[in-house]
Amino acid sequence: MLVSKLILHIEDNFDNRILVRRLLQSAGYHIIEAENAYQAAASLYKYSPDLILMDINLPGIDGYTLTHKLKTIPGVSKIPIVAITANAMRGDRERSLLSGCDGYIEKPIDIDKFLDQVSDFITNHKTRDGKFEIIDYKTGTAPKGRDPRKDLQLSVYALAASDPGIWNER
Ligand code: MN
Repeated sequence: MLVSKLILHIEDNFDNRILVRRLLQSAGYHIIEAENAYQAAASLYKYSPDLILMDINLPGIDGYTLTHKLKTIPGVSKIPIVAITANAMRGDRERSLLSGCDGYIEKPIDIDKFLDQVSDFITNHKTRDGKFEIIDYKTGTAPKGRDPRKDLQLSVYALAASDPGIWNER
């Protein structure tokens, strides 16, 4: 049985979003998209994706900073984050791992390999601890016994306050 996974794609470039969306949808994934750190944080307040694909060069808060922040947030820290890194010469891959990313995929993405890379990252993290779930994205309900959304909401506000520019609509 095909179990549909949810992927959050954080990317400010429209064309890159379309390409990744088409590839992922062709394989049956559910996708949510964010163009900047604030939209990403707002999505993670509502959804608990199985994988985050993280562009590094984002307006305002960059992908390294956002990853580092997300890895400190209960309920989010266990979600694998895969950087989409463009510049090997600049050490982007090493920096992405240092910032807390669980791996990286080179940009431009190889459309023949991309879906295998994505499914590898999801498969290798499928034994996530259920207590870190935030909200079931299908039912919209929080797990019993705790409401980690409050922690996340505070973190979202702190993140936004650290760079007021990300509030601006682009
Ligand atoms: Mn970008």
